[in-house]
Amino acid sequence: MKLIFATGNSGKLREAREILAPVGIEVVSPYDLGLTKEQVDIEETGNSFEENAILKVRNLYGLCGQPCFADDSGLVVDALGGAPGIYSARYASLDGFGEDHNFASNIDKLLHKMQGVQDRRARFVCSVALILPEAGGIKQFYGTCEGRIAMERAGCGGFGYDPVFIPDAYPDRTLAEVDEDAKNAISHRGNALRKMLEALNSL
Ligand code: IMP
Repeated sequence: MKLIFATGNSGKLREAREILAPVGIEVVSPYDLGLTKEQVDIEETGNSFEENAILKVRNLYGLCGQPCFADDSGLVVDALGGAPGIYSARYASLDGFGEDHNFASNIDKLLHKMQGVQDRRARFVCSVALILPEAGGIKQFYGTCEGRIAMERAGCGGFGYDPVFIPDAYPDRTLAEVDEDAKNAISHRGNALRKMLEALNSL
């Protein structure tokens, strides 16, 4: 089966392919259908991960009319009252700290905010929204990955905040220091996509 993935984020696309290809699901980039970044990267005006995932999948379905899914995800830090949360992708640019959608500036801002903070508990969250025309309506799936914010960057794997996120499952390294299969086995995205798979299998 083929599913179009409503993302322009190459890290998300790679991980979804790694998770879903072994079970026979081909994950297709909207760019492979000739859609543009402007068409796919819509403004995320929702108030939650769930609302934003719905906005993205509805937009893509309107453009392609084929089975598709979206992922809205981010990092939730307890000591920062849940920030950066739904603003994870543009955290640094919110107050002029750095560029929009820039992973390096986002991490700089996060480490700055966490200077001297003892409670470093955090989690990655992923909300997936799926539209299968034959199943009717939108189905949603949720995954998390618990961990804590590192004192400094380590590793060069993954993407986004991975170099500063230490997952509980590997307490001596960041997500950017575990290999991709190990990340996918414990990640928020992996957990949400495996729930989507269960639902697809039961259709
Ligand atoms: P959005 O879902 O397009 O709003 O963007 C999610 C943002 O959250 C990304 O740009 C990353 O900054 C961050 N993020 C989401 N998932 C991950 C992950 O698996 N590792 C690291 N950062 C992530």
